[in-house]
Amino acid sequence: LTLSSAGGDIPSAGILNVGDELLSGLTTNTNGTWLGLRLSELGFDVVWRAAVPDRIGSIEDGVLEALNKVDCLIVTGGLGPTPDDLTREGVAEALGLELVPHEDTLSALRERSRLLGMDRLPEGATRMALAPPGATLIPNPHGAAPGLMFEAAGRLVVLLPGVPREMRDIFSSRLESWLRDRFHGRLRSEVHRLVLTAGIPESRLAEEIGPLTETGPGTVSVAFLPHQCGVKLRLTARGFRDRREAEGWLDGVESSLEPVLGAYRYHAPTGDLAEALGMRLRSARKTLAVAESCTGGLLAKSLTDHPGSSEFLLGGVVAYSDAAKIGLLGVPRAVLVERGAVSRQVAVAMAQGVRERLGADAGIGITGVAGPGGGSPEKPVGTVWYAACLGGTTESRTFQFPGDREAIRARASWAAMRLLLRLMDGNRP
Ligand code: ATP
Ligand code: MG
Repeated sequence: LTLSSAGGDIPSAGILNVGDELLSGLTTNTNGTWLGLRLSELGFDVVWRAAVPDRIGSIEDGVLEALNKVDCLIVTGGLGPTPDDLTREGVAEALGLELVPHEDTLSALRERSRLLGMDRLPEGATRMALAPPGATLIPNPHGAAPGLMFEAAGRLVVLLPGVPREMRDIFSSRLESWLRDRFHGRLRSEVHRLVLTAGIPESRLAEEIGPLTETGPGTVSVAFLPHQCGVKLRLTARGFRDRREAEGWLDGVESSLEPVLGAYRYHAPTGDLAEALGMRLRSARKTLAVAESCTGGLLAKSLTDHPGSSEFLLGGVVAYSDAAKIGLLGVPRAVLVERGAVSRQVAVAMAQGVRERLGADAGIGITGVAGPGGGSPEKPVGTVWYAACLGGTTESRTFQFPGDREAIRARASWAAMRLLLRLMDGNRP
């Protein structure tokens, strides 16, 4: 067995999840995700993760690949008593270790089966007491199979049961503090910060931000995470002495990005644009009324998904037919006839009409073709007109949104919310 140096100052960690069901997709690999988070929080550089089937050869390959890259490898699953539990054997094979019965564990297993009313320990179960000589066995309060931990070729190898609750409990109650001691002084926890943007595509955002420079004694990196209504930027600081130092550098990077991001940025604990608009309206003590056609109430629904919406939202009207637009919102019949229901004039009349009728400070109107039918050469599916008014100012826009009916409706409601945020903040594109 030859291993190249895992190198680096910050210790690296890898995760190997064993189980056929993880590859077939029958079970979601929550152990991988959970361990990834906990190890990086603890200060490891988590650089490797894989899932392999319940086969000795596959486990062996996984272990060898991982140990070429990491200082600490955590393997989960396949420690139980059944014939498909082969992790011990695969790991021992990879590292050329023998497996010997661990006497204290054998007695504990015998005691456990006696308490469960069995007259003897089943043959398969004795395998759970096998370990490389000198390994530390980690008791499992919620199950039979103990975890195990040993050093091999300068790396720390830890095997944990697959049952998520057992794995988590062993990690939190014992392993975490052992890892801290073993890698003492070298662990560097990551500090993350999310910056939410909407209304600018990922590629343009990346172009405008450019590479991050000036990252001081550690590093600050940026990841672009597209999500429903925009792009989240995740700033990650790592390698700093402590959290305070890391936060200080994040503050610096964040303010250096402000000239680029300011216009697109929004603030919401859940990451939802509707929450951001609600918070903005509440802090400005302004009320809102909405008039929706193609979004069918989606905008009102999104706004009321967040508690406290009664403080700013007076109400909404879903005006689908011409008659409803005329009768409930006061859209002039002539405008509907001349311009058509999907037009700037109708969106504006809807926004102003609902604002006046409900006595709100602000109004939003949305009218469009959500498809899949109803499109025409001049107004293809996805064409939406939307308007927002606040005090005496009204702005309107049109856009041809891509996607299916659901996507068009969602995008239309986000665009309308951004338009009102623009009216409130002035500097938005
Ligand atoms: P046991 O002693 O219970 O057999 P084990 O260590 O052998 O434990 P497995 O047989 O691999 O573990 O898995 C036990 C249970 O835990 C199964 O229901 C399995 O689907 C689930 N499980 C295993 N690995 C994971 C994982 N990575 N993420 C989520 N669940 C998992
Ligand atoms: Mg099992």
